[in-house]
Amino acid sequence: MQPPADATVLALDLGGTQVRAALVRADGARLGRAAAPTPVAEGPAAIVAACISTLQLARESAEREDAGAVTRLVGVGISAPGPLNPWTGIAVEPANLGPRFPGTDLASPITAALGLPTFLEHDTKVAILGECAFGAGVGFDDLMYLTISTGIGAAAISGGHLLTGPDDTALELGHAPITLDGPRCTCGGIGHLEAHAAGWAVAAAGAAAAASGESPWLAAWQRAHPEEEVSAKLVAEAAAAGDRTADAILEHAILAIGRAVAGYVNSFNPARIIIGGSLAQAHWSRLSERIGREIRENAFSVPGRRVGVVPAALGGDVSLAGCHPVVTGRLGNEAWDRAVLANRAQG
Ligand SMILES: [Zn+2]
Repeated sequence: MQPPADATVLALDLGGTQVRAALVRADGARLGRAAAPTPVAEGPAAIVAACISTLQLARESAEREDAGAVTRLVGVGISAPGPLNPWTGIAVEPANLGPRFPGTDLASPITAALGLPTFLEHDTKVAILGECAFGAGVGFDDLMYLTISTGIGAAAISGGHLLTGPDDTALELGHAPITLDGPRCTCGGIGHLEAHAAGWAVAAAGAAAAASGESPWLAAWQRAHPEEEVSAKLVAEAAAAGDRTADAILEHAILAIGRAVAGYVNSFNPARIIIGGSLAQAHWSRLSERIGREIRENAFSVPGRRVGVVPAALGGDVSLAGCHPVVTGRLGNEAWDRAVLANRAQG
C-alpha cells in the first residue's frame, strides 16, 4: 500500500565519525535532531546499537515538537557510504566504518527495534533524491548530482528513475578515468577523476609541493607544523595567500572537474547538474565559471544549452531530508518489491 501524502519518516545518516538522526516530515522539515559519535573501534554491533539509540532519541524528541508527526511515521531511511546492497539492507564494503563492518545487516535489526520497515541507500543516491524532493532539483526528471569533498561521488536520475545498474554500482564517476597514464587512484585504477580532483588528491599534491619546496608557503607551513598533514583546505589557503604552485594544484583539480562534467553533459543529457560537497562549496564561483566554459567548448551544443549547473541547496542535511523520498518511494512500489525478490533469489 502506498503511504499517505502526509507520511513522515525517521532518517539516519551513518557516517564514519557521527551518526545523525531526525524525523522528516512530508514538507521536508527535520524535527527532533539527535546525534552520537560512531563507535567504529568498538565494531559493527556497537555501531548498529548507536544507530538504534539515536533513532529512538530522535523519535522521542520529535514527539515533543510535533506529536502528530510521530503518529504518521511509515518507515526508516538510512543514508550510508557505499558500496551497499539497497535491496537487502546490507553494508557491502564501506570504507570508513572499520574492517569488520562489511557484510553487516543494518536494516533488519533497525526494523526489529523501531517496529518500522527500514530502507538502506547509498549517500549520493539519498542526496539526489533529497535535492529532487526539497532542494535544487525540484521539478526536474533528468538530472545529476555530484559531490566533491575528500572523495567524489555521483548519482543520476533519468526519466524520473534512479540509475543503479543491476549491482547498484553505477555512477562511480570519481573512479572513471579522465587521463591514460596516471596518476594512480586510491582504488588502484589509473587516471581516475578522484586522483586529479578529490580533496585527498589536492592534499597529496600539496604535501608533495611542500616536501619539494616547490610551494614556498606550504613548505614553510610544514616546517612550522611537522606533526600535521597538508589538507585540501590548506592548499586553498596557500593559493589565496598568493602561492602559485598551490593555485596551480587547485586550478588542475577545477579543470579536471570541468572537463569531466562536459563529458557527463554528452553522456547523460541532464537538464540539471547539482553540485555539492565541501570542496565545491569553497570554490563555487571559480568552479562554476570553469564548468560553464568547458560545457560551451567541449560538450555538444544541444545538451550544453539545456543543462543548468547549480549548487546543492540542502547542505549537510541532504542525507536526512533525502531519506523521506527513499522510504515513501519504496513502500507500495511493485517494481521495488520485484527488485528485492530478484536480489534475494540471486543470493
Ligand atoms: Zn579510483
